[in-house]
Amino acid sequence: MRPALLNPVFKSLANLPGIGEIRAQKLAKRIGKSPLAICFNLPHGVENREFHEHLVDVSTTGLQTFAAQIIRHKHQGKRYEIRCKDVTGTISLIYFNGQKGYLEKLLPPGETRLISGKVDWYKGKKQMVHPHHVGPVTDKPQWSGCRPLYPMAKLIGEKVYLALVQRVLNLVPALPEWISAEKRSRHNWPSFREALLRAHAPKSAAELLPTSLSRQRLAYDEVLAYQLAMGLLRAQQQNLQGIAFSRGKKLEVALSASVPFTLTAGQKKIIEDIRLNMAQPTRMMSLLMGDVGSGKTIVSIYAMLGVLEGHYQVAFLAPTEILAQQQYETLSGYLSPLGIEVTHMQGKMRAQAKRTALENISSGKAQVIVGTHALFQEDVSFYRLGFVIIDEQHRFGVEQRLSLIKKGNNPDVLLLSATPIPRTLLLTMYGEMTVHRLKEKPKNRLPISTHTLPIERLDEVEAAVKRMLEKGGKVYWVCPMVQENEESDLMAVTTRFEHCEKIFGSDKVFLLHGQMPAEEKEKTMKAFKEHPPAVLVATTVVEVGVDIPQAQVMVVEHAERFGLAQLHQLRGRVGRNDLPCSCILLYKGPLSETQTARLHILKETQDGFKIAEEDLRLRGGGEILGTRQSGLPQFLLADAYDNFDLLNEANEEAQDILNKDPYLTSPRGEALQILLHLFGHEEGMLKP
Ligand code: ADP
Ligand code: MG
Repeated sequence: MRPALLNPVFKSLANLPGIGEIRAQKLAKRIGKSPLAICFNLPHGVENREFHEHLVDVSTTGLQTFAAQIIRHKHQGKRYEIRCKDVTGTISLIYFNGQKGYLEKLLPPGETRLISGKVDWYKGKKQMVHPHHVGPVTDKPQWSGCRPLYPMAKLIGEKVYLALVQRVLNLVPALPEWISAEKRSRHNWPSFREALLRAHAPKSAAELLPTSLSRQRLAYDEVLAYQLAMGLLRAQQQNLQGIAFSRGKKLEVALSASVPFTLTAGQKKIIEDIRLNMAQPTRMMSLLMGDVGSGKTIVSIYAMLGVLEGHYQVAFLAPTEILAQQQYETLSGYLSPLGIEVTHMQGKMRAQAKRTALENISSGKAQVIVGTHALFQEDVSFYRLGFVIIDEQHRFGVEQRLSLIKKGNNPDVLLLSATPIPRTLLLTMYGEMTVHRLKEKPKNRLPISTHTLPIERLDEVEAAVKRMLEKGGKVYWVCPMVQENEESDLMAVTTRFEHCEKIFGSDKVFLLHGQMPAEEKEKTMKAFKEHPPAVLVATTVVEVGVDIPQAQVMVVEHAERFGLAQLHQLRGRVGRNDLPCSCILLYKGPLSETQTARLHILKETQDGFKIAEEDLRLRGGGEILGTRQSGLPQFLLADAYDNFDLLNEANEEAQDILNKDPYLTSPRGEALQILLHLFGHEEGMLKP
């Protein structure tokens, strides 16, 4: 339960004076629902308006505020000039196309007004073109000194937003300290409340840096909360009662007879390890990490066999409908011949089909159920769920893993991930899991020859694709991703699609993007798969997991805009059997140093683990593009890349704390519980 002390910062924004439902909804979409969310949205800039008692001191750099008396108005064509003075000097206010009536009311001759804006020299005289503000002298407090800038303030108007920030900061109570006195004084950190107040009242641009004391403290708090949550999760995990599954011998013999390839030594070893783990009466939480194309799916199928033979059900979750469809085909291809009933729960099913599927799931007729995460959100009731597999799980965070743990009858859980995580981060991110690494790739694979070309050489690429099509090959053509703008993504991909239709022939070219209805996507994937010579022009929807072994070429346009991990994922869509394959990275110069380095690394290596390490190293330089793909935790106040040492320090401290006080019951533990709540880790974390 949340400590009552925190109630004010969790109440609804809509109830605050001057906000109301509509503004609260706008804020909720972009920032969050609670006053606390507003507190955690720190300013990105600072604006300094200098106030001057005397006109003579007003300068032409930065923003200036002063009071002056209006002398007279005059206008010449479009230029409207208002002369002002004080005892030390004069200045002209200039309006182009100014309206006489309006200006005479705003700046009546003889009166004194507060004026704020940018000043420059014109023909040896000071002038201000279109002042930002003209008002009574009492406006001085709002129009002088430092003002924090919030990009999000646009949502509800800046004045209202600034007032809101002040209001919510006033709601933040003084809290018991959770950081040790020693650490606080060593870093010279303010208290949590003080840090928030200061972070929202920067006096200079330097105070906006992550190295400022208040921001450091807040970042540390956030990371510490995260690491504590992970530690608690881990502890909970270790003692959970689970199901002891036997081996599934009969099914294993049958499956092995039908698998068309020999398992690699790495696959065999991991299948054994997972089985041993599943045979334990405690609950399994395992992460199988393997580079793209390393063959994780078949490992997960072997892992299911004991569960199925023991008459339990298996849920197989995929992040998108396309992948769910593909994995449904793969799983039923292997399992249906063994007499196992595989069901696909789709997002959009006809009512009748859906009812049948739901009945089969609750009666136990359906033994393996494939679907997206909707499977767990909707009211699907399982007959006897024993095992949950989550494919491409790097798209989901700790909170989702937590919600899984709490699901029903404690099924074993296996996560599959193609995003290799450098060892330094593993504990931070998956500390509660047993991790298996599938390093080796199936032996039949040829290296994917990787080329980088400037977009000016597009015609060469087109010629190469044409030759490929003549030989009956398959080609992916991925178009740039423009973050946060689905419309221009769509434009880029449809333009390229139309162009490709023209040069390769419209019967051979297919289009795939995220905004297509699920059914159409499925149809397109199927057509691409079955139609021998073909080009699939797509957005990054093909990024994860798509498995069409016959595809031989991957073209990526504007490769300079993608992150390393993402390019590696895209490249991994080809090179999935023994055909020679290539990946062409088209870029538009000039390239930054980091972009050049990224493309170079891809050319040099195909080892996903190495690429991940390099990725991290490059991002240390502050590049943010593609962060989403990295699988790193997303922090609000801390940047995982900039705060590597912080992550480690907080991790050590969290472990230390939990060793001494596993349920956080000491007085400091109680303060730490407050910290957990502040950062949204409360649910189910602590034992009663
Ligand atoms: P990922 O690990 O990226 O999910 P998949 O499980 O989709 O990879 O496997 C990629 C392709 O490799 C599939 O077509 C699969 O049938 C094939 N494959 C898996 N294991 C082997 C193996 N040991 N030898 C040859 N091909 C394999
Ligand atoms: Mg896969």
